[in-house]
Amino acid sequence: MIKVTVWNEFLHEKIHDEVKKVYPDGIHQALAKGIAGDGIEVATATLEEPEHGLTEERLANTDVLIWWGHMGHDQVDDAIVQRVQQRVWNGMGLIVLHSGHFSKIFKKLMGTGCDLKWREAGEKERIWVVNPAHPIAAGLPEYITIDSEEMYGEHFDIPAPDELIFVSWFEGGEVFRSGCTFNRGQGKIFYFRPGHETYPTYYNPQVLQVIQNGVRWAAPSGAAVPVRGNHQPLEPIANKG
Ligand code: ZN
Repeated sequence: MIKVTVWNEFLHEKIHDEVKKVYPDGIHQALAKGIAGDGIEVATATLEEPEHGLTEERLANTDVLIWWGHMGHDQVDDAIVQRVQQRVWNGMGLIVLHSGHFSKIFKKLMGTGCDLKWREAGEKERIWVVNPAHPIAAGLPEYITIDSEEMYGEHFDIPAPDELIFVSWFEGGEVFRSGCTFNRGQGKIFYFRPGHETYPTYYNPQVLQVIQNGVRWAAPSGAAVPVRGNHQPLEPIANKG
């Protein structure tokens, strides 16, 4: 079983009727329902819980953390961000969705500004698979069409991704690197673009397929944790001075 925790700030859904209509139980519940099963076990956590639901114990029991945030980025405690970063370095997978590009944890792990162009015009997005051999693209057609989404456009201020899986085209003319992977320490990170809160994107079976694939890809490999620091020789050394 891969143990997933879906973290959502869970603010828009309580404040904005337009969002509540689309995700009455919150984005985290829609995602949890959408990806659970087939060897994936899902729990959820939200901003308002003590320690934002991301206690040492919870993180120790999480193979892959999924992150959705937007208006509450600044309300996330720096100590918790530090804790999540350490867990990623030690091998926990992290999937950052949509407006999570501006979350403290994503910016900290990327080390860049992570800014981009955006527009809310309910336009068509076509997400092209540009790395069909990658496990995150497993089972997908050549492209996924989303009839109505927010636009994110280049330049996306991230470090050059280790792997680029998807590139989005938008009706208004912009393009965006919408599926990127990064390794940090022993952890694998997948950024996936779609999922503005006013659109039913997280009910789209192909979008859910990508996130499920991402979970399987980002799950810890089981490789030994490297030992760092001063090291004793494995073989006798003929010290020649
Ligand atoms: Zn958005």
